Amino acid sequence: MWLVAKDTTGSTGRVAIGDGLRAALVRWYTGHGNEADHRACVSLVVTARENHKWLACDCLGEVTAPPLLSPAYLSFQETYYLRRLTSRPMHAPACPFFLPQAPPRIRETARDSLYALDVPDGLFNAHQKAPEKLAQKPDHSEPDDRSRGVAIPRLGKLLWLLLERAGSNVLRELPPAGPREGSISQEMRFLRRAAQGLEIAPGVPLSAHLYTNAIDYEKRRVHARLRAAAERWPHEFAPQAFLLLEANAVTSTEIVTGLGTISVRNRIQHTGIIRAEVEPPFLVLAVVGEHSRKEGYVALRAYAQPVLSGNQFVPTERDHDRDVLRALQDAQYILRRRDIRMAVKKILFDLPFADVSVRPDFLIALLDDNTGQECRFALQILQSSDEDYLALRAIERTRLSQLGPVAALALGDVTPEIVARTALGILS
Ligand SMILES: [Zn+2]
Repeated sequence: MWLVAKDTTGSTGRVAIGDGLRAALVRWYTGHGNEADHRACVSLVVTARENHKWLACDCLGEVTAPPLLSPAYLSFQETYYLRRLTSRPMHAPACPFFLPQAPPRIRETARDSLYALDVPDGLFNAHQKAPEKLAQKPDHSEPDDRSRGVAIPRLGKLLWLLLERAGSNVLRELPPAGPREGSISQEMRFLRRAAQGLEIAPGVPLSAHLYTNAIDYEKRRVHARLRAAAERWPHEFAPQAFLLLEANAVTSTEIVTGLGTISVRNRIQHTGIIRAEVEPPFLVLAVVGEHSRKEGYVALRAYAQPVLSGNQFVPTERDHDRDVLRALQDAQYILRRRDIRMAVKKILFDLPFADVSVRPDFLIALLDDNTGQECRFALQILQSSDEDYLALRAIERTRLSQLGPVAALALGDVTPEIVARTALGILS
């Protein structure tokens, strides 16, 4: 395999890609790569793209004009990938590059998927004692969500874990009559209850050091409680508390809430989506710990997640995600008029499945009160009409269909009526 100049036949000016890197590229392309493969390949693709290079494949030998791959960026999924130039010579049928690249969303295996989040030590912990920190890679910068091609910091994954445990990523079914119930205090109650089942350190439940408004921090109640608890804190762990705040603005180091603004010592982390100017509100998880004796306890780091609304903390990535969620909500009302209950779960973590993991956009549960029939289906929202994107999602759909019914809707087709009709079609 070679790097060649873009817009050429790839027969000249070749720079060979080493065997090790080529093997990693094949694993990554076919969906079997590990994290190191992923990093190496994304770096190769980014560099090739920046330097106007294509990749030429050696599957037809050294002499014949080679099949070509162009490094590409899929903005809808914020991911880098290799696009086969199908107007150029075809790869040999046995070549791993003969087929399109495995979809990024189903690339992780169960072993290295985001489920690794609560596997390593099972602790809801985002601040380590200095010696430990020196002994290992900083865990808050590990690139993990390959589908987005950006790092989801550990704090972000902890926030998602908490949301998942609390069911905050679910558009719950409607009450039998009247509008949806729900308030920020009820949502926070669900989250605090979920926090009882998570531990910051052995024997220290998250619920004991989780605060849901800025006042507790400003009045230094967070600090006082933490100082008192620190005396009994398991000594190999760093004492820490968490702030879970609904924010109406986030600057680079400030969380702005209705009850006060909190400064964070380091730059506030997010998926990069906020740079695309997503409207508030955000749900922010901040860790409070001691960076140095002199400074005492301060909000060290924070992760900001855009959410549907101030009383529904379903994570959203772009403003149009909110439109999709609103259409799904309105579909709940349409279906209720026909005595059909619907709940919608936004999928945050991969669903382990055979040797791969899959992650549809939503899982939808239906219960027909007329017949007692229940069913579940996966919903894909197709965000682009780009041919490669659609090909990737079609492969994902094939995988998902082994788990149960799957529906796919183009972004422009996501209206309450069409969602309701899709649900009815799956029930019948
Ligand atoms: Zn080939």
